[in-house]
Amino acid sequence: LGEAERRWLLTVATLPEGLRLVRFADRSEAHAAEKMRVDFVANASHELRTPLATILGFVETLRDDAAGGDPELRARFLGIMDGEAKRMQVLIDDLMSLSRIEAERFRPPTDPIDLCPVVEEVRAACDAVLAERGNSLKIDNRSHSTVVAGDHGQLTQLIRNLIVNAVKYGQEGAPITVSFEDAREMVRMTVTDRGEGIDPVHLPRLTERFYRVNAGRSRAQGGTGLGLAIVKHIVWRHRGRLDIRSTPGAGTSVHVLLPRPPAEPVS
Ligand code: ADP
Repeated sequence: LGEAERRWLLTVATLPEGLRLVRFADRSEAHAAEKMRVDFVANASHELRTPLATILGFVETLRDDAAGGDPELRARFLGIMDGEAKRMQVLIDDLMSLSRIEAERFRPPTDPIDLCPVVEEVRAACDAVLAERGNSLKIDNRSHSTVVAGDHGQLTQLIRNLIVNAVKYGQEGAPITVSFEDAREMVRMTVTDRGEGIDPVHLPRLTERFYRVNAGRSRAQGGTGLGLAIVKHIVWRHRGRLDIRSTPGAGTSVHVLLPRPPAEPVS
């Protein structure tokens, strides 16, 4: 924190014999955490209120005889309301995922999970999206074992979020690669796309909740702005490391290091 963001707490106590105890406490961390909490509540409320306002607006319009009586208009408005309600549903699901992962942060998962089959499962589940954008997904396994100590559901979510981002922000028709490498007691998984890339100024903030480079574009593609925040919290819970590297105009690589189970031989 820079000096401008520092918050000092000054306490003065009078001791016996007229002595004064003056205590300066640096409250910057607590202040920053509190600010993040307040910003998060404000952002979440805003993100939920916007689709809700649209739905309520169309309810009003449909109550009005003219629009409500026209079957074509009715169908169109109901379609919009359906889309907005689904957007709220995705956002609420992501918010609940985040709070669940955070609540478990002191309990690192221990199940042996093989990441390669998880990527295959996600590839099958994302088949339609990949085909729609003409992307292929290649798995490049150079690791002696892709088994990590983990939580199957959360690792599936992590891999899905990274692949969906590679599709959304990648180039149409370009390949996406998921590669695995040995990194001593960890497995390194890297998801690489050949897309628009990210300007370096944004990189440090990408995993903040609701941070987006282009909010309109993210929303138009059904993004909640929580995908990478969820990824970060899953990595933290697994006691792993996350590193996002990008070259504007060339593409992005997201590196995730995850610990192997204790029984796995170290390479
Ligand atoms: P969103 O729902 O907006 O995709 P994320 O938390 O997943 O939210 O990502 C945050 C932002 O990071 C995105 O809005 C986008 O600007 C940027 N981003 C994420 N992944 C990529 C990528 N592979 N290539 C370029 N930009 C990306």
